[in-house]
Amino acid sequence: MQAMEKQAYDTFRDTMRRIAVDKVEPHAAEVDRTKQPPVKAYAGLRDAGIPSLGFPEEYGGQGGDLFSQVIAVEEVARVCATSGLSLLTGWAALDPLVRFGSPQLIRQIVPSVAAGEKIAGWCLTEPQGGSDLAALKTRAVKDGDHWVINGNKRFITNATWAEWYLVLARTGEKEYGIFMVHRDDPGISFGKLENKMGLRGSPTADVIFDDCRIPADRAIGDTTRGYEYMGVSLTISRPLISAQALGIAQGALDEAVKYTRDRKQFGQSVSRFQMVRGMIAEMAVKVESSRSLLYRAVEAIEADPVQGRTLASMAKMLCSDTAMSVATDAVQLHGGYGYLEDYPVERMMRDAKITQIYEGTNQIQRLIIAKSVYAD
Ligand SMILES: Cc1cc2nc3c(=O)[nH]c(=O)nc-3n(C[C@H](O)[C@H](O)[C@H](O)COP(=O)(O)OP(=O)(O)OC[C@H]3O[C@@H](n4cnc5c(N)ncnc54)[C@H](O)[C@@H]3O)c2cc1C
Repeated sequence: MQAMEKQAYDTFRDTMRRIAVDKVEPHAAEVDRTKQPPVKAYAGLRDAGIPSLGFPEEYGGQGGDLFSQVIAVEEVARVCATSGLSLLTGWAALDPLVRFGSPQLIRQIVPSVAAGEKIAGWCLTEPQGGSDLAALKTRAVKDGDHWVINGNKRFITNATWAEWYLVLARTGEKEYGIFMVHRDDPGISFGKLENKMGLRGSPTADVIFDDCRIPADRAIGDTTRGYEYMGVSLTISRPLISAQALGIAQGALDEAVKYTRDRKQFGQSVSRFQMVRGMIAEMAVKVESSRSLLYRAVEAIEADPVQGRTLASMAKMLCSDTAMSVATDAVQLHGGYGYLEDYPVERMMRDAKITQIYEGTNQIQRLIIAKSVYAD
C-alpha cells in the first residue's frame, strides 16, 4: 500500500470507529438478548452511507473498494458481530450480480441495497450439506419466459428480513445458474427462525422454493456457469468474513486490556502479572498477524480474484481461529465476570465460533490451501 493510500485508509478507520461506537455499540447487547435484527444499528450505518461502500458508483455505490469494506466490517464487528454480518451480507450476496449480471438487473436491485433501504441474502447451503456445494438439489427449469425454482435452502442469513435473495440452483446434470428472487415472488416461503449460540440478532432460517416462478431476466449471466461465478464471489466474501472475525478478536482484546488494567488482585492491577501480560502479548500477536495476512489477501484479490483465492482461504482460516482463541482468552482474563452476560466478551466468544464454520468451514479452507500448496 502506498503511504498516501495508507493515510486515507487510517482516516477512514477513525471515521468508521466513531460511527460504530456511536451508532452500533449501544444496541449490541440488546440485539443479542432480544434476538431481533439490528435494525437501529443498520439505520445508523445507512444514515452514514456505509452500505453503499461495496457497490460501483454507477449503481449508487462508492466504488466497491474491498479494503474499505474490510475496514468497515472490522470496525462494526469490533463492537457488534451481528451488525457486521448484516453489513457484509449485502455486499457478498450481490457480488455475483454486480460482476456477472445484466445492467438492467443490477439497476433494478443494487441501488436500493446500496442506499441501505433494502436488505439482501444469499442462498447456497441446503439441508443435506453446505461443504459439498456441487451436490445441491435445488433446481431451476426454464418455462417460456420464466424460470421455475424448486428446493430448500438452509441457514440463510437475513431470511425473512431481506427483500432480495440470490439463489444458486442446478440447471442441468452438472450445470448451475444464479437467480435473483424477490420476497414477494409466488412460491417463496421461510422456515422457522433458528435459535443460535451466537449472532443471535441475525435472522437465520430456511428459504423454501415451491414452484417459485420468476421472470427469465432475473437469471445472472450464463445459467450454466453459476458455480464458476460463485467461486469468484466466495473469494470476495471470505475476506469480509475474515474481517468480521478480526473485528471480534480486536474487540475482545480491547475489552481484556481494559478489564485487566482496572481489576486489582493481591494489591495491584492484574495487568502487572507476567502471566496476564504474556496472554495479552500472544493475543495481540495473533490479531496483528491475522490483520497482515488479511490485508495481503485483499491486495492480491483486488489485483486478480482468481489468483487471490488461496490467500482468501488462508485469511479466513487464520482470522477465524484467532477470533475464537482471543475471545476465549478474553473471557479467561475476566475471571468469573467473563462468564456473565454483563460483559461483552461473553457474547464475543459465542459470536466468534460461527466464523470458523460458515463461508466454507475451516476444514474446507485447509483443503483449498493444501491443494494450492501441492499444486494438484
Ligand atoms: C449462523 C449461520 C449463518 C449462515 N449463513 C448462510 C448464508 O447466508 N447462506 C448460505 O448459503 N449458508 C449459510 N450458512 C451455512 C454455512 O455456510 C454452512 O453451515 C457451512 O458451509 C457448513 O455446511 P454444513 O453445516 O452442511 O456442514 P457439513 O458440510 O455437513 O460439514 C460437517 C463437518 O464435516 C466437515 N467436512 C465436510 N466435508 C469435509 C471434507 N471434505 N474434509 C474434511 N472435513 C469435511 C466440515 O468441516 C464440518 O466440520 C450459515 C450457517 C450458520 C450456522
